[in-house]
Amino acid sequence: MDFVSGNLGWIEAICGPMFSGKSEELMRRLRRAIIARKRVQVFKPIIDNRYSDDEIVSHTDMRMKSEAITRVSEVMSRLDWRTQVVGIDEANFFGQELVEIANQLADSGKQVIVAGLDTDYMGRPFPPMPDLLTLAESITKTLAICVRCGNPAKHTQRLVESSELIVVGAAGSYEARCRRCFEPGVPKQEYLDFARPKQVTAES
Ligand code: ADP
Ligand code: ZN
Repeated sequence: MDFVSGNLGWIEAICGPMFSGKSEELMRRLRRAIIARKRVQVFKPIIDNRYSDDEIVSHTDMRMKSEAITRVSEVMSRLDWRTQVVGIDEANFFGQELVEIANQLADSGKQVIVAGLDTDYMGRPFPPMPDLLTLAESITKTLAICVRCGNPAKHTQRLVESSELIVVGAAGSYEARCRRCFEPGVPKQEYLDFARPKQVTAES
């Protein structure tokens, strides 16, 4: 997507499970845009203040200044009209409203790069990513490494009990797993690292 003429806008989507390098890839592209002397604005949801309020942070502690917002409509109210590249991390926390806004930005000539989870803790499509993928000019699916077997991992395995769609990931709440090792929802206790060794019972 490097060679376009005029002010053609577009949407680039980066999707995959946790630990797959979405934030790193987003930052890599934004740094290149800065090197190309483009004006860049980066947004992230305030829900994700695990590491920093005004930076996006990868699991390897790569950082970049960003604006923390509660609703995606703030992208529009905070947008500097001169901005050419708009980066949005943790897109899955923004809900369906992001789809229309990403489209509007692209239609008005902005390069929009969104990164987010494409599936939830049950392995289901995680809105609004599916719609963003159909609208995007470019899609990158990043894979992590399954911590159980070492194969490429497309799933985010939740390790704590909850039926909420969003449980903000404290360390140890999630891990990456391949399709074979993934267990929708919460895995059986026997597979958890902190679980005690299985009790030998009369039945076993
Ligand atoms: P994401 O935004 O997709 O959650 P990050 O960009 O924050 O991912 O972090 C990716 C980095 O996390 C990798 O480059 C790697 O160093 C590290 N990492 C930790 N656990 C894993 C794993 N299971 N698979 C792949 N990378 C991992
Ligand atoms: Zn596996």
